[in-house]
Amino acid sequence: MDKLSPKERFKIPRTHMPEQPAQERAHNFTEVNLGLQVLAAQHEAQRCLDCASPACTKGCPVGVKVAAFVDKVLAGEFAAAAGILRQDNVLPAITGRVCPQEEQCEGACLLAKRGNSLAIGHLERFVADWERQHGVQFPPKAPPTGKKVAIVGSGPAGLTCAGDLIQKGHQVTVFEALHEIGGVLVYGIPEFRLPKAIVRQEVDNLRQMGVDFQTNVVIGRTVTIDQLMNEEHYDAVFVATGAGLPQFMNIPGEHFNGVCSANEFLTRINLMKAYRDDYDQPVYDVKGQNVAVIGGGNVAMDAVRTALRLGAKNAWLIYRRTEAEMPARVEEVKHAKEEGVQFLLLQNPVEFLGDDKGWLRKVRVQKMQLGEPDKSGRPRPVPIPGSEYELEVGMAIVAIGTSANPLVQSTTPDMKTRKGGYIEADPATLRTSKKGVFAGGDIVSGAATVILAMGAGRTAAKAIDAYLQNGTW
Ligand SMILES: Cc1cc2nc3c(=O)[nH]c(=O)nc-3n(C[C@H](O)[C@H](O)[C@H](O)COP(=O)(O)OP(=O)(O)OC[C@H]3O[C@@H](n4cnc5c(N)ncnc54)[C@H](O)[C@@H]3O)c2cc1C
Repeated sequence: MDKLSPKERFKIPRTHMPEQPAQERAHNFTEVNLGLQVLAAQHEAQRCLDCASPACTKGCPVGVKVAAFVDKVLAGEFAAAAGILRQDNVLPAITGRVCPQEEQCEGACLLAKRGNSLAIGHLERFVADWERQHGVQFPPKAPPTGKKVAIVGSGPAGLTCAGDLIQKGHQVTVFEALHEIGGVLVYGIPEFRLPKAIVRQEVDNLRQMGVDFQTNVVIGRTVTIDQLMNEEHYDAVFVATGAGLPQFMNIPGEHFNGVCSANEFLTRINLMKAYRDDYDQPVYDVKGQNVAVIGGGNVAMDAVRTALRLGAKNAWLIYRRTEAEMPARVEEVKHAKEEGVQFLLLQNPVEFLGDDKGWLRKVRVQKMQLGEPDKSGRPRPVPIPGSEYELEVGMAIVAIGTSANPLVQSTTPDMKTRKGGYIEADPATLRTSKKGVFAGGDIVSGAATVILAMGAGRTAAKAIDAYLQNGTW
């Protein structure tokens, strides 16, 4: 396609991503967004202003060269576009689907000032999907170094680190506690946002590049970090165990059957295939029930949209602030509303009520108003006295945050942790206080995003490679 003048480019509206109709998708688990076709992608690529100092690249935590890959899309050179993307991002089909682009690359795009940013995420997904269909070009691999690296955890941080280190010629083994590789990408994010087949294909690519994956190995139980280093002779270890420990509200009645964490709910559905008709559903049957999900982030949005798809009569999202303060991605909020999720804003559960057999029956909710900003900078939710009321529910899912997975830290006493049990690591190199051990992703930063975890994986790989080459700590 021809390049247009900047004035002409400004005039083109953002290309719409085709989606499954809301009424249909609210009852199935297939992907909501359907992807751009070739002409639509090229049409969108025409809108790039090709800025001299691209703010989009600075807005991306891994510095994807947006203008360069978008230019190749415009030229119809999709393999070249994929090559440029892969230089900075080893999981583009995933980030193209789940990154909060509006806060990162697209938020920084000059066109965003007019509320009409370039659809960078959609273009990234287009290129990555094209590459998946036409075959991935594997980057060249350095000759074997004879060094062994163990990676603990197979989320985006672990996978990125593995991909980078294998290219440097090191022997890489990823140890994963669960039976599937991918971390939150497979056990947290539901099929309708990120099909598991896409994650599996990315994992297969890494396998083909030579990464060894060991599932059902719980580091700290099956084997400790010290044993990996002293008995199995790993030269370096990267700990990327995530922040998957659910937090609860500590209100009365949280023990009733029918109250669970979003992590448990989503893990059961994602890893035990409750989203498929041909599998028995290993969760409470929410069909025809009222389900309340508490929280306002991506996890809450995933849980409530999942409950809706499993046949909930009413899927309520209870959030103590307003929509403006919600941490969830804008697109997820929009999709949830279109599908029929009901938002109970400025409200907060204060008690779960159950029957004499121990089953949840109701949730008592208090209304809130916004007060002065708190530590997070967001207005503090302040309870309105006397505003409590009761909602009849069959299930309540708590999605108010997670904290550090503690096992590796508790079995590696010479590795320093900080408040909350997160691992202390040098920001530039991700070295921990223990020689040869690096850490990154959510287990260092606290619950964050896929792309930030990938960035950490990349930083760690660079530092591990340097350490393996020169041996200095
Ligand atoms: C439901 C949900 C939806 C989300 N949606 C988005 C989104 O749309 N966009 C976005 O950018 N981010 C999203 N996030 C956040 C994002 O997924 C995380 O920030 C990211 O996955 C962190 O990556 P990680 O590699 O640090 O850890 P994780 O992805 O948590 O992976 C850690 C892995 O380590 C394994 N592990 C833990 N302990 C051990 C052990 N002792 N031995 C062996 N293995 C172990 C775990 O089983 C897990 O597989 C979401 C998170 C959740 C929970």
